[in-house]
Amino acid sequence: MKITAVRGLPLRCACEPISDALSTSRARQALLVLLDTDTGLQGIGEAFTYGAPLAVMQYLVENTLGPKLLGRDPADIDGLWQTLYISTLASGRRSMTLGAISGIDMALWDLKGKCEHKPIAALLGGERDRIPSYASGGFYAHGKGLDGLRRELEGYMRMGYTDAKIKIGRNLDRPHAPLKVLGITEDTVTVEEDWQRIRAAKAIVGEGNLAVDTNASWDRATALENAPRLVEAGVGWLEEPIPFEDMQGLTLLCRSNPGLKIVGCETQQGAGNFTTMLDVGALDVVQPDVGWAGGISECVRIGAAAQAHGRPISLHCFGSAVLFAASLQVAAALPGLLPMESEENPNPLKSALTKAPFTADEKMAWYVPQGDGLGIDLDWDAVEKFVVK
Ligand SMILES: [Mg+2]
Repeated sequence: MKITAVRGLPLRCACEPISDALSTSRARQALLVLLDTDTGLQGIGEAFTYGAPLAVMQYLVENTLGPKLLGRDPADIDGLWQTLYISTLASGRRSMTLGAISGIDMALWDLKGKCEHKPIAALLGGERDRIPSYASGGFYAHGKGLDGLRRELEGYMRMGYTDAKIKIGRNLDRPHAPLKVLGITEDTVTVEEDWQRIRAAKAIVGEGNLAVDTNASWDRATALENAPRLVEAGVGWLEEPIPFEDMQGLTLLCRSNPGLKIVGCETQQGAGNFTTMLDVGALDVVQPDVGWAGGISECVRIGAAAQAHGRPISLHCFGSAVLFAASLQVAAALPGLLPMESEENPNPLKSALTKAPFTADEKMAWYVPQGDGLGIDLDWDAVEKFVVK
């Protein structure tokens, strides 16, 4: 079998604005990767973009990386991954290049599953048939307020979730607030209002795990000052409190707050970079994104590094149905698995692209799709509605 084409398919869908500490989403987007072969079989992946231009990711897939794969045997996944990684060492290693490699790698695994008539989980030796998850939401939105946050979280608990995550840190009234640098003033809250949000959320989540996510908007001093208060408030996870470059700060946070798990980093990429963080004790829970960190192949390696360092893993997942399916498939085979992110913001790119919906048990553990490859059947008429023309 030979690879005959590697294409990017940009999808976009407007949404009600939602904000985290640093940014506001007014649309959801995904760059699907379509990998064609001379047999007619096609592999599908998703390169995650964190809101970066889809056209740039598409260019990387189609013009920078894709041509290196033409004529090659898609079964040689590791050889192809290394080809893409080594050939972009000077310009890649992180950011959108590794995101594009992630999407291509995912498509190669999907294709392998379709060839062997097995879900990717089975190819990886995964035993789990379902993946525990937590409800990921709790964003800021115009006019939402405390009552809106409460209603949202109560809805998740009614669905069966026991754990949930909310955003914090969208503040202007603290030293070195990055929003000041960005000149952003919309839908911000005071630091005190954030504490009210945390207490309101904990009252609803109760004995379950409440996670808070600053999206790396704190600095080291703010994080070290606030972490003990989070423990007192019953918060179990602090996600990406500071930028991953400050590994010493993350290490201090981990060491000084045993009651609080320091989780990250969705913006980090590559098994080597995660291993460096693990070596210095900068993470309590490893949290890569399959569509960004290096794909299925690299997340297996990151999972092995986490296991070797005695740390659990929880996948970040904030993309389309393709990324969600890929995450479930990998999670089925990862050692030391903790509940993965289940985004509950309205997102048609996740909920409306597949012929059959994803299903979960009564505790919101998601069943690993059992079809070939990613295990899902895309509804191409639905996909077509979201293609960026
Ligand atoms: Mg996050």
